[in-house]
Amino acid sequence: MFKKVKSSILPFRMFGNIYFVGSRQVSVHIIKTECGLVMIDTGYPDMYDQILSSMEEMGLDIKDVCAIFHSHGHYDHFGCTERFKALSGAKTYISRIDNDIVNGTYDLSWAVELGYDRLPPFNCDVLVEDGDVFTFGSTKIRCVLTPGHTDGVLSFFINSEENGEKIIAAMQGGAGLNSMERDFLNHYNLPFTCRDKFREALHKLAKEHVDLVLGNHPGQNRTEEKREKVLAGESILDREEWQRFLLTTENALDAMLEKENQA
Ligand SMILES: [Zn+2]
Repeated sequence: MFKKVKSSILPFRMFGNIYFVGSRQVSVHIIKTECGLVMIDTGYPDMYDQILSSMEEMGLDIKDVCAIFHSHGHYDHFGCTERFKALSGAKTYISRIDNDIVNGTYDLSWAVELGYDRLPPFNCDVLVEDGDVFTFGSTKIRCVLTPGHTDGVLSFFINSEENGEKIIAAMQGGAGLNSMERDFLNHYNLPFTCRDKFREALHKLAKEHVDLVLGNHPGQNRTEEKREKVLAGESILDREEWQRFLLTTENALDAMLEKENQA
């Protein structure tokens, strides 16, 4: 595997208090609350400068980050966590299950697969369980365990408001099939039941109402198109997008399984 050159998507305020400050390769979001900034994922280690300058451009100070949530324990989602924690004193959050990846209990961070050296292990401060809700002023972040991509993927449901319009924004926290491919599972001696758990979790998520889809990676919610729309003064709320995204993801899973059966 080769390191991908990180190219930035210019930062923007998506809706209400929700900002995008990530890159084309992986999303980083900031939720601006009365209790400080909540960061969701911290990108690759070499996105450090880009994230800081994107935040600065949005008038967001890294020192104001009070909480860092992780969608899952893969390298591209926790690469700057320890450095951002040192700058801000933020509490760090991850599922109890995936904490065992960042602390090195299980060697499943994908650092090597993505072409990097492993990061020093660390433990997060708050080990999240399925259904936990965390309140930051008027913002609530509900965490739903949606395993498959890793055993401890968290999906997030976040309330937001703009001009009196109240919405739910949501992120499915790990949709990539790469960590559920046969070769990968065989290499790490992992159970193939992760595919069933993944499908079950998609069905669980389909029961939720979502007004704004946040991407764990920008390709998943067409983040750049959303930026264009926001700049053009158009709404990026779409009550059908969540269902479309979940269906597309399940179809991709079916296609992968079918291909394996034919091989
Ligand atoms: Zn991942």
